[in-house]
Amino acid sequence: MIEEKQLQLDIHTHTLASGHAYGTIRENAQAAAERGLRLLGISDHAPGIPGTCDPIYFRNLEVVPRNLFGVRLLLGSEINILNGGGLSLEERVLSCLDYRIAGVHSLCYDLGTVGRNTEDMLAVIQNPWVDAIVHPDARAVDLDYREIVPAAGEHHTLLELNNSSLTHPTKGERCRDNYREMLSLCRQYQVPVILGSDAHDPSAVGALGGVLELVNEMDFPEALVMNLDHETFLAFLAQKHEKLGLE
Ligand SMILES: [Zn+2]
Ligand SMILES: [Zn+2]
Repeated sequence: MIEEKQLQLDIHTHTLASGHAYGTIRENAQAAAERGLRLLGISDHAPGIPGTCDPIYFRNLEVVPRNLFGVRLLLGSEINILNGGGLSLEERVLSCLDYRIAGVHSLCYDLGTVGRNTEDMLAVIQNPWVDAIVHPDARAVDLDYREIVPAAGEHHTLLELNNSSLTHPTKGERCRDNYREMLSLCRQYQVPVILGSDAHDPSAVGALGGVLELVNEMDFPEALVMNLDHETFLAFLAQKHEKLGLE
C-alpha cells in the first residue's frame, strides 16, 4: 500500500506558456514544495495545440534555474503524437529539453481504428527521444494494451497513469478500466508506470490521489511505480539519454 506522502515527483504539469494553463514556473514549483515533492517536471505543450508557445520557448529553457524552493526542476515538453507515428517537435528542439513526454491530442491527430492508433503509438514508444507516453487511455485514444505494454518494457519508455483522465466527465470510467487492464499487463511484463497529475493550475501540481488509489486497489508492485524515489527516476532518464548521446 503506497501512501500519498511517499510520492516524490510529478513530471506532467503545465504553465501559462501552454496557453490554457494558469500558473507560472515558480508558482508550480512552490506548489510542488508545499506538497512535499522532491522533483517537478514542467511539460508545456509543443506546437500543434492552439495558443501554446513557439519552439524558441523550449530552446531558451537553459536560462531557468533547475532548483526552486528546494525542488529539483526538470523542463521538458508534452509533444503531440502525429498520424503516422511522428512527433510535433523537431530534433534540434527536442535536444534542448531535460525530458520529453508524448501523447495523442485530437486537436492534431485524426483518431483511427484501434489497430491504426496502436501502430502509431508503437512507433513513438520505439522513438529514443520519448521518455514517457502520457494519458494512454480513452480520454485521448483507444489502444491495444497487449501490444503497447510489452513494447514499452522493451524500449524503456514509461507509461503514464494520468490523474486528470479519471475526472473526465464522460470518459473517466473508461479510462479507469483502461488503466486496470494496463496495470495488470504491466505487472505481467514487469513494466514500470509513472503517475502524472497533468496539472493546468498550480493547485493540481502533485495531485495524484485518483491514480494512486487504482495502483493500491490492484495491489500493483511498488517497485514498478516510478514516483517513489526521484533518484531512481533520474537514473532511468540518464540511462535513456545516454543512448541519445545527450549525457
Ligand atoms: Zn495531454
Ligand atoms: Zn498535459
